[in-house]
Amino acid sequence: MTRTDRPHTSRTRRADVVVVGGRCAGAATAMLLARAGHDVLVLDRATFPSDTVSTHVLSRVAMVQLLRWGLLPAVHASGAPRVTSVSIDTGGDVLTRTIRDRYGVDHLLAPRRTALDAVLQDAAVRAGARVATGVAVDGVLRDGTGRAVGVRARDTSGPLVVEARHVVGADGLISRVARSVAAPLVVRRPTTGASLYAYLRGPWTAIEYHVGRGALGGIFPTHGGESCVWVCTSEAGARRHQRRGARDSVLLDLLGELTPRLADRVRGAEQTSPVRGMLRMPNQLRRAWGPGWSLVGDAGYHRDAITGFGISDAFRDAELLATALDVVLRHPRCEDRSLTRYARERDRLARPVLDLTCALATFPEPGRFVDLQRQLARVIDEQAGELAAWPSPVRASVA
Ligand SMILES: Cc1cc2nc3c(=O)[nH]c(=O)nc-3n(C[C@H](O)[C@H](O)[C@H](O)COP(=O)(O)OP(=O)(O)OC[C@H]3O[C@@H](n4cnc5c(N)ncnc54)[C@H](O)[C@@H]3O)c2cc1C
Repeated sequence: MTRTDRPHTSRTRRADVVVVGGRCAGAATAMLLARAGHDVLVLDRATFPSDTVSTHVLSRVAMVQLLRWGLLPAVHASGAPRVTSVSIDTGGDVLTRTIRDRYGVDHLLAPRRTALDAVLQDAAVRAGARVATGVAVDGVLRDGTGRAVGVRARDTSGPLVVEARHVVGADGLISRVARSVAAPLVVRRPTTGASLYAYLRGPWTAIEYHVGRGALGGIFPTHGGESCVWVCTSEAGARRHQRRGARDSVLLDLLGELTPRLADRVRGAEQTSPVRGMLRMPNQLRRAWGPGWSLVGDAGYHRDAITGFGISDAFRDAELLATALDVVLRHPRCEDRSLTRYARERDRLARPVLDLTCALATFPEPGRFVDLQRQLARVIDEQAGELAAWPSPVRASVA
């Protein structure tokens, strides 16, 4: 779409940066750019507070980011319980460990997305970003050279054009921005996994993982005495069960067959929500940027939910991107260098977890599975240490 494709009747707004999508990736990027003094407009077609399809454990990487950004108190205030121990049940043994106090983090959280995304959006607004909800973006505007110069959107009042120096696609896996700029996939791995979850009321206080037959299940304690109880398995297995059972009992049926010890842990507990989830979870990286545009969060990088790392990826990459864009907005001639560095760093930090995610999603025998989980814990710990050492949320000296 070019500038001339815009609707004749459209209203026009302007911003330095328009961010499409206002959750983990978009709201965080907007907050950091606004804190650096830039004029940012976030557009999201959803109205908030609203939920999204996702379980929501935060790894130490995500916790470090919330700590560095000064947002941990707000997440605590939302009522998400502090979790201080994690257990893994391999079918024979249960290994339990207390969360170590490292990089300023001595507990983990699993806040509902209604709460977490609201904290991020509030922080973006407090930093000076404008957030417009109920606005669906239809495509990216390009100038005669092909450079992205804004977006075409619509809300309940009709068409809308936003002109901007830079367009950020933080609009999730089925990214309209990525499609509009034809951002190619640069890494594509097999897509075999599915994940289903529901909320149950129960006494669980630890994060629990249960290694099953071709499956990993678990419990993430969250707000109001509820826990998110979930299972990751193969797409084929999840579909088979979906066809057989009633929609709301499919999770407990799956747990009973694949992770019977987890089924025992939750037996008799009240299920307080329908079953939700995703049946095909791509493992892929898209090209991260082009002239006038960039992608962050699931829009640019998606992985199976088995490692529970998407929010961490989004928080890390939001800061990498905001740091790069801060330079680009101040020194436009640095676009190539600064955004190439963003892409390189994103890929460097994403690849080890992506490799382990894909290996875990093949559900190897329990001994190998636990070994991969240990490797994952090491990678997460190293990454949390690296992020904790970053000098400040937006480093103007990156170029
Ligand atoms: C089943 C499942 C379980 C998961 N469990 C975990 C977990 O335990 N821990 C973890 O860290 N990660 C988990 N993830 C991954 C995590 O949910 C994602 O990585 C994360 O939500 C990515 O955030 P995002 O901001 O990039 O995208 P999203 O959260 O998808 O947000 C995109 C936003 O863009 C908006 N949008 C889309 N298109 C348009 C448009 N055209 N115009 C305007 N707005 C638009 C949407 O309304 C939405 O608000 C899980 C994912 C799934 C599917």
